[in-house]
Amino acid sequence: RSNSRFSTLEKEEKRPLNKDNFKKLLGVFRFILPYKAGFIAGLVLLLFTSGILLSFPYVAGKLIDVASGKGSWLLNDITSIALALIGILLVQSIVSFFRVYFFATVSERTVADIRTHLYQKLIRLPITFYDSKRTGELISRITSDVTMIQDTFTVTLAELIRQTSILIIGLGLIFYTMPSLSVFMLATFPVLILAAMFFGRFIRKMSKKTQDALANASVVAEETLQSVHTVKAFTNEQYEIKRYRASMSAVVKVALKTATYRAGFISFVIFALFGGIVGVMWYGATLVQNGELTVGDLLSFVLYTTFIGGSIAGLGDLFGQIQKAIGASERILEILEETEEVESKEQESISIQGEIAYENVTFSYPTRKEMPVLKNISFHVPHGSKVALVGQSGAGKSTIIQLLMRFYQPDTGKILIDGKDNQSYSISALRKHIGIVPQEVILFGGTILENIRYGKPDATEDEVVEAARQANALDFILSFPEQFDTIVGERGMKLSGGQRQRIAIARAILKNPSILILDEATSSLDAESERLVQDALEKLMKDRTTVIIAHRLATIRKVDRIYVIGDGQITEQGTHDELTNDEEGKYSQLVKLQLEVS
Ligand code: ADP
Repeated sequence: RSNSRFSTLEKEEKRPLNKDNFKKLLGVFRFILPYKAGFIAGLVLLLFTSGILLSFPYVAGKLIDVASGKGSWLLNDITSIALALIGILLVQSIVSFFRVYFFATVSERTVADIRTHLYQKLIRLPITFYDSKRTGELISRITSDVTMIQDTFTVTLAELIRQTSILIIGLGLIFYTMPSLSVFMLATFPVLILAAMFFGRFIRKMSKKTQDALANASVVAEETLQSVHTVKAFTNEQYEIKRYRASMSAVVKVALKTATYRAGFISFVIFALFGGIVGVMWYGATLVQNGELTVGDLLSFVLYTTFIGGSIAGLGDLFGQIQKAIGASERILEILEETEEVESKEQESISIQGEIAYENVTFSYPTRKEMPVLKNISFHVPHGSKVALVGQSGAGKSTIIQLLMRFYQPDTGKILIDGKDNQSYSISALRKHIGIVPQEVILFGGTILENIRYGKPDATEDEVVEAARQANALDFILSFPEQFDTIVGERGMKLSGGQRQRIAIARAILKNPSILILDEATSSLDAESERLVQDALEKLMKDRTTVIIAHRLATIRKVDRIYVIGDGQITEQGTHDELTNDEEGKYSQLVKLQLEVS
């Protein structure tokens, strides 16, 4: 599910430099404040090196004048002047080392802070937020968007100050010392700058198209690699390769077009820049011929002019980077400004017995408001009893549970837990009392120990072992060479379906919830695993209010009450025996259907 507001295609887009956008930059800029000392140190060093750099053309000019006997200076032999120039360079290099180091420290720390903040925010956002975003898209906020602003607040900002000062001081110096040559220079360079700006804007538009094409290609790769099972199951590798190759050709096509213009732009700039320099040298040479200028002065002037030209080009680049950074800041702020899951004031340490009551609950998902998913659902689960929800896929069973967990809010009606509206509990307190054994058990990369402990992070090792024992998981865990330290998950040992289920049960045992949700696996296990899992579940359910989302009806014969859900409503209810008595009933039909299949 993609959302245009969060589309990857926005990458690299430049935003105009106006007041609103400036505020966006400031919104992210605050992350640098803890490290302002380092930033200021870097800035001072940067200004210092710029000052030193500005003295270079002057001294170089003196070297020539002294050599040609056309002038004198503090130092009177060319070797000393050359050594002075080397000295200037040496100081410049040493100071630059520290400057780069300071800025890197500040920007790395700032970026780590921003990423942590974003992650912290993301993980606290409600499920409704995730319904409309793609995970890959969110990850790119944490990675590439943050990378894009990484240097904005250190190097870019400092360079902006530096280039501006070089520009102003450089211009001041040449105007003061060589006014007529400066006027001549100023008549040529601004034309060049205007042309470059016009060209630059055009190329920017072209680059945007390349970015878009690349984003399209990434979507193809992301989708297929994420669902590589499906691709392989259909043996559609060749088809997907073709599709990806096609999107790559599209990228190359646009990129080459952009490259052509860019190449043209670069040739133009090089020609015009050196053309300008030749022009200035020609005019300067005539001044030298007339005795109005020394050769040394001319050299200083040319060097200053290149500095000034460099800083103008640099400034253009910097503004471009800032404009891109605005786009990235905007996307980062969008997340930072999302509202987290609401927490009511209620204390964390509540105790819940586990009585559940749904009262006329009606609900539709925020992303599909027009489609009611639950219609006036009411039912009651007394404390400690077991109920099952059955019904075709898409009937609304999982949705009933999602509302219980407060992943979503009912549109109308109420869900009472121990007689109190579930909205009045604090979300985290509520979820602490609800345990889930899901259909698809998710194991995180890490050891078996860590995965079981996920149910209660502060559990002792003994508690974990005991939970594994109760979940009938101890035997298989101990049969692994590394036992509880066996790595599972993506890069570790692959566990069987039944083993994963028992890890999930152990987690739930550790969590010790008063309300238990069993989302039955649709595929059945082999008889032995099935027996071990069922046995562990029986133990887990004991004395807990349990809601089972049942797929295999054989497992729910003994529950206290069965609710048949059809199209968001409760269509039938009763015990297994009551429901099977009605031969025409939906439940009887479902039972018959399953008997035929098995
Ligand atoms: P069941 O668990 O009985 O298979 P669900 O509760 O998962 O059914 O789904 C009920 C209906 O709600 C289905 O039509 C499904 O497409 C829709 N649905 C489920 N989850 C979402 C969601 N996150 N956003 C929008 N619609 C959803």
